[in-house]
Amino acid sequence: MKSSDAVVIGGGVIGCSVAYHLAKRGIDVILIEKDDIASGTSGACDKAALLQSKNPGLHLEMALESVKLFPELQRELDTDIEFKNNGGMIVIKTDEQWQVMQGFVERQRKTGLKVELLGREQALERQPAFARDILGATYSPMDGEVNPINLTLGFFRGAKKYGARPLLSTEVKGIKAEKGKVSAVLTTDGEILTRFVVNACGVYAPIVGRMAGIDIPIIPRRGQIIVTEPVPPLIRGDVNCARYITAKFKPELLGNDDNARLGIGLSLGQTENGNLLIGGTREFAGYDTRTTHRALRAILKHAASLVPVLKDISIIRSFAGLRPYTPDGLPILGEAENLKGFIMAAGHEGDGIALSAITGRIISEIIACGRTSLNIDMEKLSLSRFRKEDLNGFWESNNRHGNAV
Ligand SMILES: Cc1cc2nc3c(=O)[nH]c(=O)nc-3n(C[C@H](O)[C@H](O)[C@H](O)COP(=O)(O)OP(=O)(O)OC[C@H]3O[C@@H](n4cnc5c(N)ncnc54)[C@H](O)[C@@H]3O)c2cc1C
Repeated sequence: MKSSDAVVIGGGVIGCSVAYHLAKRGIDVILIEKDDIASGTSGACDKAALLQSKNPGLHLEMALESVKLFPELQRELDTDIEFKNNGGMIVIKTDEQWQVMQGFVERQRKTGLKVELLGREQALERQPAFARDILGATYSPMDGEVNPINLTLGFFRGAKKYGARPLLSTEVKGIKAEKGKVSAVLTTDGEILTRFVVNACGVYAPIVGRMAGIDIPIIPRRGQIIVTEPVPPLIRGDVNCARYITAKFKPELLGNDDNARLGIGLSLGQTENGNLLIGGTREFAGYDTRTTHRALRAILKHAASLVPVLKDISIIRSFAGLRPYTPDGLPILGEAENLKGFIMAAGHEGDGIALSAITGRIISEIIACGRTSLNIDMEKLSLSRFRKEDLNGFWESNNRHGNAV
């Protein structure tokens, strides 16, 4: 029978980062993935290591710490993660949005982000593809971008280099516990004895939680993305719109029309090959990863109202991914209260790429030393912050869409 100090379940960006950081510390680790590396959300997302799209406070503090680690990862990992520090912008169309963004930017500055509001002319100078009728934009020189698949593979290969043992095409089917402590993981390839299990299963984390008798409030929030043919450099850094920020944090303020129901908001970036990634939606549609004509049309219409030249560029494909959404928008990190050795590392919603580095570091420190050395309030990230009686509405919206959990 196999055994290991720690078993990480999930070969997405979070599981691979955790495995990398554990193995680098010399901890014996097995990484289990039911399909292949980056076959889940980490292979169906954008490439933003954006700080401006984070809520001021703990969310942004974590992202600031995380993105700081990327230049070192770019040097350290054997895979080119295509990290660039090109800055990012949030385009603003209306007076109302300007006022909201003014307050948002103010609070982000207090958390340590360099960010400013630019009027129309200044915004157009930085991003000439913007429509002439925008009001302005925010700009942060600290925003970056990274190739999410290369980053996941980079962590994976790095983990292997430091001795992590991967088990791909292997599914976890059960968790065994003795006297309130994790003792083994049951897989389609047999049993593995271990004291630590890391649940890094993204939107599937609740299914693995059930195997240990633990309820985990994470539901899939679908995002649809359009990919264009490669074009010469058009967009500098990554771009969101003010509506995107509302759709992410306060969707109830979007109103009740079709665009609001789809959670339409602009995310726009250009890959190294020149393809444009145009997003997106925020929808509760269960585990359905199909794209829909209705949403793709709405994404394009909205995007072209902010960046008109997009109308003339050919689309080559579209895809959808599932963001692991929690009730308060923060990930769930750390040991479960009622089961020693069961460590959560999931629920990063639309921020898992940006937060992957810090998540790996925190979880590896918890396993190696019992606590993180970073100045982070882990209570606010714990599973126990959610009280069962407060979650009824959350699960109801999940059940309405026929989720598998
Ligand atoms: C459209 C879209 C755009 C996004 N854009 C960005 C962005 O620009 N920047 C950013 O920071 N974030 C972005 N995100 C969010 C980011 O992609 C996610 O937060 C991140 O990928 C989650 O990673 P994960 O490792 O937790 O989950 P996943 O990548 O889904 O990995 C979980 C893995 O667990 C495996 N698994 C599940 N159950 C089992 C089991 N029983 N046994 C073994 N393996 C199992 C799955 O097969 C899967 O591979 C975006 C997301 C979407 C959908």
